[in-house]
Amino acid sequence: MTETTRCRQCGTCCRNGGPALNQDDLALVRQGYIRHDQLLTIRQGEMGHNPATGRLEPVPVELLKIRGQGKGGGWTCLFFAEESNGCTIYAHRPTTCRILECWQPEALLATIYHNTLRRADLINANDPILAEIARHEQACPGQEFTGLLADTNQNSLARLSEMVRADLAIRGEVAQKIGLSLEIEFFLFGRPLFKQLTGSGIEYVEENGGIRLQRATSPRPPVGEGSKDMA
Ligand code: SF4
Repeated sequence: MTETTRCRQCGTCCRNGGPALNQDDLALVRQGYIRHDQLLTIRQGEMGHNPATGRLEPVPVELLKIRGQGKGGGWTCLFFAEESNGCTIYAHRPTTCRILECWQPEALLATIYHNTLRRADLINANDPILAEIARHEQACPGQEFTGLLADTNQNSLARLSEMVRADLAIRGEVAQKIGLSLEIEFFLFGRPLFKQLTGSGIEYVEENGGIRLQRATSPRPPVGEGSKDMA
């Protein structure tokens, strides 16, 4: 068996999830190679895949990741073209993709969660949408949400319900005010909280035009798996 010592452009890394951007990628967004609606925000404290441990864990800092393809749960990076087995923005690919050497990933793993790009880096400081993002963060902080998912206390369920409703209400209000595509919503507010319930043992029921949470009655996959379908 031949040992890998160079990139063979097999596309495996591009099928394992879009990369998180760091500060060195700011110019790629400013110059339009990567658009806001091609990004997904993983808010601080929400569950995300940690490449160093291979597990889904609460992320310690806000991350902006390139979205995955399709609606059915694919992880493959939005910029990966299956037909040519290549990157459609290769000359302008993010830093993570340039650093990664899958046969010796240590250099990349050392950069995880460092120098990351955040929403505020990509939005004009005078843009009123920043106040909406701050309001959303205050109403449903990622860290508290993740903590409550693992808490079986009945009060936790009530607080979770409150956060899930607040998340939906703020998205709805902002969409009504300025008009939002679903893709821009993923950038501004991250994954809807009710979508992140999958695998937590809590399920939502649509009722009277709203959402009610309850303990799941059937066995679920491990916590956090649900985040894949939005990535
Ligand atoms: S940006 Fe290009 S190189 Fe990087 S993961 Fe996506 S398809 Fe692959």
